[in-house]
Amino acid sequence: MLTDEEQVAFRASIDGVRSLAAKRLRCIGDVGHAVGFVANLLRSLDSVAARAAELGPVPDCKIGCSYCCHVRVEATDPEVFWIVRRIHQRPASEVTDLIEKLRRRVAGRNLASLDTRQGCIFLAESRCTIYEVRPAACRKAHSLSVKQCEAFAPEIPQNLKLLVEAEALMIGTAEAYREVDLPASAHELDSAVLLALSDASAEARWYARAQSGVM
Ligand code: SF4
Repeated sequence: MLTDEEQVAFRASIDGVRSLAAKRLRCIGDVGHAVGFVANLLRSLDSVAARAAELGPVPDCKIGCSYCCHVRVEATDPEVFWIVRRIHQRPASEVTDLIEKLRRRVAGRNLASLDTRQGCIFLAESRCTIYEVRPAACRKAHSLSVKQCEAFAPEIPQNLKLLVEAEALMIGTAEAYREVDLPASAHELDSAVLLALSDASAEARWYARAQSGVM
């Protein structure tokens, strides 16, 4: 919970990120760069997480630990397109298999119990198979108590400073995209990746929103 003063500082951080990012987005002239711009957010989040770990408290997360990959994950439009661009670098047969897996999962979701805690579709042998392009939400995720994760505790202790800095980056960047008329809402990862993978025009249609002289 933030104090009033902290909330004012938080909003100021968001506005700072939004203003700078919107300025840079306005100079971008094609869809590839508009999607790729989201990599700045992802890099910044990694820096925030690394700095927070240095300053402490040190997260209890270890390589191969994947409790946080068994919850609903969301990603914004540019994050999804960024992931899909990377997936398209895989052999065509792998992409087809992934689309089929995603279709089955999304279609079966209503039948599955919400308590199942199904692992992320990109999780294989406790590793993220899209690690370099994983969403912002995954980069922000951490825990100060793996025991609480193991117990699927409703509240996982986290580093508040890290959370606040990460949120400011994520909210500010999403607001910047929207400021230049590029949608950047949060979508459930599986459904959004499936849509973007199965519809070759999805990315161009997303970008067409900003073609009326805004960018
Ligand atoms: S995208 Fe990667 S890091 Fe994120 S939940 Fe899925 S497997 Fe885990």
